Amino acid sequence: MPTETFDAIVIGLGAHGSAAAAALARRELRVLGLDRFARGQTMGSSGGHSRMIRLAYFEDPAYVPLVRESWSAWRGLEDETGLPILTQTGGIYAGPAGSEIVDGSVRSARAHGIRHEVVDGRELARRWPVFAPVDDLVAVVDEEAGMIDADAAIAAHLVVAERAGSVLRFGARAVDWRPAAGGGFEVETDDGSVAGSSYLVIAAGPWMSSFVPDLGLPLAIEREPVAWFEPVVDPSSVALGRLPVWVMGTPEDGFFYGFPFDAEHGLKVSHHHWGVLTDAETIDREFRPADEARIRAFIRRRMPGADGSLRTSTVCMYTNTPDLRFVIDRHPAAAGVAYASACSGHGFKFAPVVGEVLADLVVGGSTARSIDAFRADRFRQEPVAG
Ligand SMILES: Cc1cc2nc3c(=O)[nH]c(=O)nc-3n(C[C@H](O)[C@H](O)[C@H](O)COP(=O)(O)OP(=O)(O)OC[C@H]3O[C@@H](n4cnc5c(N)ncnc54)[C@H](O)[C@@H]3O)c2cc1C
Repeated sequence: MPTETFDAIVIGLGAHGSAAAAALARRELRVLGLDRFARGQTMGSSGGHSRMIRLAYFEDPAYVPLVRESWSAWRGLEDETGLPILTQTGGIYAGPAGSEIVDGSVRSARAHGIRHEVVDGRELARRWPVFAPVDDLVAVVDEEAGMIDADAAIAAHLVVAERAGSVLRFGARAVDWRPAAGGGFEVETDDGSVAGSSYLVIAAGPWMSSFVPDLGLPLAIEREPVAWFEPVVDPSSVALGRLPVWVMGTPEDGFFYGFPFDAEHGLKVSHHHWGVLTDAETIDREFRPADEARIRAFIRRRMPGADGSLRTSTVCMYTNTPDLRFVIDRHPAAAGVAYASACSGHGFKFAPVVGEVLADLVVGGSTARSIDAFRADRFRQEPVAG
């Protein structure tokens, strides 16, 4: 029997669970939010100082309206809480001529009227001397991109939830959820307590598959080391206001990305999709010499102005789907339960919209937003005829 009852329980208070808690609380629902780790932790996928918000989305123009809605929502959240979250920096998306990142960025920018410019590798290095002047390189400069302070973004959503009366428990691991005898759901935590609710949102990040194995989601956890370096160019030339956020596709080693210099941490550079699969419980969280070597090899070829000492580092996780799109859906066997695995290394920026969609799905059973591309049934194999 539940010892307490709520309108909604949210399991996982990372980017998407915190946004869902805020969205539900804004609808005047009494919310219980649970997270297995401490407040402000960096054990899942959401911790840290910076996440990109790119407008000219090279992956698919269909993301652009969601980015725009998210951008407005982040600004609204700043107004609501007084916390600074979003900084417009512009964005650079570079790669060989004709590559996915270049052509995809231009396609999205044209389709959605995003102010942009296309420059060659020499012009890129002239404007931002931190980069090497590479001949076979084209860069799309997106004026509207920016960066999100990830810690502040989550803190702001939690403030909204708490101001509306939500109860948030950290260090509280949900160990089971089940339909309750009289309707609704029960969630049991590792201290043995049981809470009841009408609605349940599950946003467990890299722990999604182990917490809801019956969904059979084809999620893969990828180890993602991140490093910050001392620049060897004038720091003012790579500072906020000068260097945009950037992503560079290389023929030899995939995508790298980075952010403007910040005096506290350095110049952030990392590899997008390291290709090392792991498990959320057993991941190697040490930043290894081989991790630094891989990033430094890129820096020496493409970004020599970042080739200073290693200032700090961390190891994070991506939760990837096979098509690198998100999964946001209702539980097929339990009306009132919705879940999101919105990562694949690019989901943070969408959190305010994902939170609203999750609230729509549990409360009303559907959402006015177009989420067909994110439904879980796309992973179901069609039987092969004959
Ligand atoms: C290095 C890195 C760089 C990235 N860069 C970008 C970027 O530039 N732009 C962008 O848009 N996106 C980016 N992403 C992706 C983005 O950060 C993720 O999409 C997002 O953080 C996922 O949030 P989440 O809430 O789904 O998962 P998480 O943040 O992992 O949250 C899940 C939470 O659930 C909790 N939990 C799990 N199981 C339980 C349980 N049983 N009981 C209670 N709590 C539980 C965990 O403690 C955790 O806090 C990046 C990701 C990484 C790792």
